[in-house]
Amino acid sequence: MPALTPAELAAPPRRRGLIVSLVVAFVALLCGVPAVVVLTSDEPAPSATAAAPATSATPASAAPTGPPPSPKPGDPESVRFSWALDQIRTSLATMTKGMRDGNLGAFVKPAADKKVRAELDRRFRSLRAMKVSGFDLSVNSGPFNEKKVRGFSEWSVRIGMAHCFAVATCAPSTVVFDTVWRDSAAGYRMTKISAMTADDNGPQPWEVSTLTAVVGSRAVVAAPKSYAAKARAYLPIAERAARTADKYVLGAKPDRYIVYLAGPAEWKKWFGGSEEWAVGFTTAATRTRSDIVLRLEDLTNSYAESVLKHEMGHVATLAGREYHADTDADWWLTEGIAEYIEWDKRGMANYDRKQSSRRLIRERKFKGNLEKLVPDDDAPDWQIDAAYGLGYYATSCIAAQFGQKKLMNLVDQLLREGRAVSVVSDQYLGVPWPTVSKRCFTYTKQKLGV
Ligand SMILES: [Zn+2]
Repeated sequence: MPALTPAELAAPPRRRGLIVSLVVAFVALLCGVPAVVVLTSDEPAPSATAAAPATSATPASAAPTGPPPSPKPGDPESVRFSWALDQIRTSLATMTKGMRDGNLGAFVKPAADKKVRAELDRRFRSLRAMKVSGFDLSVNSGPFNEKKVRGFSEWSVRIGMAHCFAVATCAPSTVVFDTVWRDSAAGYRMTKISAMTADDNGPQPWEVSTLTAVVGSRAVVAAPKSYAAKARAYLPIAERAARTADKYVLGAKPDRYIVYLAGPAEWKKWFGGSEEWAVGFTTAATRTRSDIVLRLEDLTNSYAESVLKHEMGHVATLAGREYHADTDADWWLTEGIAEYIEWDKRGMANYDRKQSSRRLIRERKFKGNLEKLVPDDDAPDWQIDAAYGLGYYATSCIAAQFGQKKLMNLVDQLLREGRAVSVVSDQYLGVPWPTVSKRCFTYTKQKLGV
């Protein structure tokens, strides 16, 4: 991860903010933030499944008739397992209905104590505020790791939470988190609920913060309650940015762009936290959805709109996908297309990375090889700025020379299908890549007057 040098910190605020927001995106893209590499899964976690007792091969549903019997002393583990599974599934059904109906009492009913109740309460309020839909809790794997606590069985269970936001009908994404359930005289109760792990890009904001949210036609802006006014103020900004990003969506159109507004405390914990100096990032929240976090400090409204267009540009072109963290070769296009979307309709003449881009060519640190454009982690501020800029010019060149449709085909092939530009250039642009690359370097130099 790059750290800012004092010189970068001394840069003018607006410019620094823009740079660092992009640097963070770049860090996420290149350093392999766990979030973007290890996505949540719709499938049972293999390790957890393997940890289930052997008897789990015969699930309760395979029993001939009726619910599994309540275990008696001396019953085999398979009986205890089936009973626990059935009880927990029943509780999850109650919780699911509670969330859907807006019935807090039903949702927190399985909580064993005040602490778990508070955890469930927070999730209920946050998800309801964000207009969660398609909500469904299910056993993703387990029960496993049976223990005895004061004579009662206790099991670990990995829960799958299908959900989407703001739309009545959707293709829900599933995230997973861990819980512990213990039997009691009154039946099974949840004794522990964990937030999503770092491996799954957790914790998600709604797990660890009580959120308020405003829902627009294209964006959801969620924030801690203390920033409720900010969330309202940001919605029209997000809606405007979304209208731009929507023009570039590859694949399924996002139901809504999810934008979380973080104060200093939230910035440190949501999705595992981000750099102290950054202002925003986009990260994979599920297999099919990427969410945006903005840091409220130092963000003016006009600046926020630029940052949001860039970040939503990532969502539109990459939603839920790996950012190909293991290869730097596509970096120029990953960021170039986000810059291109950010600068939609504003015109190249006003582009704010012109000076640094010109300098990088003049000082001959860039000779047109886009695959090597990615800046070093410790590169000075202006060189990082220039790398984004030169990505933008190259991307704009492809649009100018071949048309935007072909540009988007190229983005799709490289960033979403993971194919190499040397392979797909002939097919999608009709010209070998070295020719395109050379032609676009000439284009860039012309635009920059070098
Ligand atoms: Zn970016």
